Amino acid sequence: MADEHGFATEQVHGGFEPDAGHGARVPAIHMSSGFLFEDFDQARDRFAGTDDGYTYTRLGNPTNADVERRVALLERGVESILVGSGQAAATIAFLGVLQAGDHVVSARSIYEGTRGLLVQNLGRLGIEVDFVADQRDLDEWARLVRPNTKAFFAETIPNPKNDVLDITGVADTAHRAGVPLIVDNTLATPYLVRPVEHGADIVVHSASKFLSGHGAGLGGVVVDGGTFDWSASPERWTHLTSPERSLGGQSYIERYGNRAYIVFARDVVASRIGPTPSPFNAFLLRQGIETLSLRVERHSANALAVAEFLDQQPDVTSVDHAGLASSPYHDLAQRYLPRGAGSVFAFTLAGGEAAARTFIDTVQLFSRMTHLGDVRSLILHPATTTHAGRTAQERAEQGIDDGLIRLSVGIEDVADLVRDLERGFAAVRGAAGAGGRADGSGLEARVDPATERASLTHAVPQDHVIAEEL
Ligand SMILES: *Cc1c(COP(=O)(O)O)cnc(C)c1O
Repeated sequence: MADEHGFATEQVHGGFEPDAGHGARVPAIHMSSGFLFEDFDQARDRFAGTDDGYTYTRLGNPTNADVERRVALLERGVESILVGSGQAAATIAFLGVLQAGDHVVSARSIYEGTRGLLVQNLGRLGIEVDFVADQRDLDEWARLVRPNTKAFFAETIPNPKNDVLDITGVADTAHRAGVPLIVDNTLATPYLVRPVEHGADIVVHSASKFLSGHGAGLGGVVVDGGTFDWSASPERWTHLTSPERSLGGQSYIERYGNRAYIVFARDVVASRIGPTPSPFNAFLLRQGIETLSLRVERHSANALAVAEFLDQQPDVTSVDHAGLASSPYHDLAQRYLPRGAGSVFAFTLAGGEAAARTFIDTVQLFSRMTHLGDVRSLILHPATTTHAGRTAQERAEQGIDDGLIRLSVGIEDVADLVRDLERGFAAVRGAAGAGGRADGSGLEARVDPATERASLTHAVPQDHVIAEEL
């Protein structure tokens, strides 16, 4: 599409290339490992890059390319690479910038798999990382910079604490150090925020989550904003700035300009490591993207209503949702996430692990699962699952208490979700003995059919709610 359109228009039309063969309105799933060459010369030209047709699916596939164009457009990047998972996307993004001897400054509040990638995998390749304890402290980011620092890394909406990133503040600090900011935008999606518009240079996604949305297939995307000026200090990025024999003696910068990084990441990193997604998964992902704004709007409204409900429960000591005015991240959420602070957040039960166990084993509608951004609501106890590998002290530093429960709020009717959580609270109170609380809040969430906005009202008496079967 030549013109810029609204998000909802772009998510269904963006990057579409008509099917010349059959006119299919929905692009085909090209489950083909390779592609025919018409003749001897075309094979030679495709290998030389002078004919841009397809050769082999690890190097490119029309179904995958369709998704790449759409995500690049939605994120306002110059180009994107679709890979098989979010972890693969982070790996490709890092290896497109870093080499042995380099150093990364990363937020501490990041996905555990990415932390492991940095520490255990890239660490073994001679790439070092330092973690910023309080990502709001821009001086701390700057203090951790060394001569060999080559990238900053953070997440726009980290889980489980919903501790929203100051994208522009961290990007400016990175740029003063002469390095790009790589951000993981998985839990926000471009519908809630486009990090490139706030100064980030490279965006990665686990497409397994909201982009795909239905919990049916993994995927990952690396998006290049095309914003970082690699030629400002060419000696730091010699893989992009020095002459390449395969490019006829030109450098990636000379040949590809502001696409240098993403072309290198595609042709040299991703194609060699080979985390190629199945075109079938790309198809599922594209189906998901076409309803992204509708889902995320509903996810976000539901999550805020659930957070407000949780915030009023006597058994809850804290609710980590930046949409709540009491959150220390509320200002950042208002600045970067006016459409909603996402739908993955945590709350903490006063009763610790025992209460968390009772609560999680009692709910019926929330799925006990380690996944995020599914249309279905999900529940998990980080201290004994995702963060079980951390020491008690490390968990305490990150605010992951034994009573902390992570939610990924789905698109169900919010009143049903609240009823399910009320069931959990009733069980916790019952297990705590003393006959439970007779004065249950009786709060019920309702969705106003006119506005589709979730809101809370004092409604059904608690006993009645608990008795009700799903
Ligand atoms: C799930 C997730 C990942 C990893 O993605 P996979 O698709 O599971 O490999 C990375 N970052 C964030 C924020 C995630 O939620």
